Amino acid sequence: MAHLSYVGNVASWDPTTLGRTRELLRETVHACDTLGVDLLVVHAGAAGPQGRGAALRTAAETFRLAVHQAEEVRLLVELMAGTSGAVASLPHEAEELLAEVGDDQLGLCLDTAHLFAAGVALHDPAGVAALSDELRGRALAPRLALVHANDSVFERGARRDRHADIGDGLIGTDGWRALVNDPLIGSVPWMLETPGDVDRQRADIALLRSLRER
Ligand SMILES: [Zn+2]
Repeated sequence: MAHLSYVGNVASWDPTTLGRTRELLRETVHACDTLGVDLLVVHAGAAGPQGRGAALRTAAETFRLAVHQAEEVRLLVELMAGTSGAVASLPHEAEELLAEVGDDQLGLCLDTAHLFAAGVALHDPAGVAALSDELRGRALAPRLALVHANDSVFERGARRDRHADIGDGLIGTDGWRALVNDPLIGSVPWMLETPGDVDRQRADIALLRSLRER
């Protein structure tokens, strides 16, 4: 799997930035197909001064173009942390964006730190179950292809995106146990985007695996 460079904004109001982002995305899609990469993660984008409605349509057009350019690689939209102007952070916003794109090929990547920052109660098993139910209810379950597993430095709903090593943030053991054992969320590949070094990341993976009950 690969991640589009962070310099782009798929929803940019600025024609130069938007053009550069679409070109970067086209090149990255081609590189992924050449290299045999399965999944390409792309952030949902930020509105800026144009307002969210226009940004949603711009982002949708960018994703539509990229999905049509892709041969084998599957594009995934990564939901944002509820930061100001974010095109899609919560499941109902993802549903809106995917409907606007109108292509079943486009998949979904969830980032636990982003969801927590956007207000989802991932520290609480009931909150994890509610998220899982909502994903199924909004027909997002078949779209879910990847989880970015990151703990969160800032409190739930802070709309601030700062990743922590697993167990050092505010999601907590009960939250992680519910997440890894959730029949939907725990069934797709996970990857870390935590700040720790390789040894710390090995320990984080061992901790997450130790919480699995199946
Ligand atoms: Zn992420």
